[in-house]
Amino acid sequence: MAVSTEARSIVRAAFGGRCGYCGVSETSVGGELEIDHFHPLAAGGSDDIENLVYACTACNRFKGDYAPAHDAPESLRLLRPQRDDFGAHVEETVHGRLIGLTPRGWFHIQRLHLTPFAMPLLPYWRLIGPCSGRDPAGALRPSARALRRARAYSYTAA
Ligand SMILES: [Zn+2]
Repeated sequence: MAVSTEARSIVRAAFGGRCGYCGVSETSVGGELEIDHFHPLAAGGSDDIENLVYACTACNRFKGDYAPAHDAPESLRLLRPQRDDFGAHVEETVHGRLIGLTPRGWFHIQRLHLTPFAMPLLPYWRLIGPCSGRDPAGALRPSARALRRARAYSYTAA
């Protein structure tokens, strides 16, 4: 069953017109974004509002029908928009590069190809609640603790 126009409007509003996975805005993309099923229809997901994510074309394509096994480890799970605290898993360095703070954060970055090139405006900090009120200059500077954690989970993908 297709997502209704009403459901689409609700999801679009709930995500503030931004991609739930990378934070890119409709303004940056130049048009409305797509509706993604977090738990893919192909894997038994539903059209329920709670399963819908407002997503840019790139994130939607890279995510595809990805559905980790029920007992998959954290390192094979995407961050769930509006459920997971992105700031606890992903951080932006002073050079504008995204680093994973956890295996799950790294997986999210890798699976969705969230490079600085894919995210020219790096709008994460406006998207993720807990850090949104922080001083921007401070928010973009990773803490020593974050860097230690990032090194502990060094990124091994090509
Ligand atoms: Zn996106």
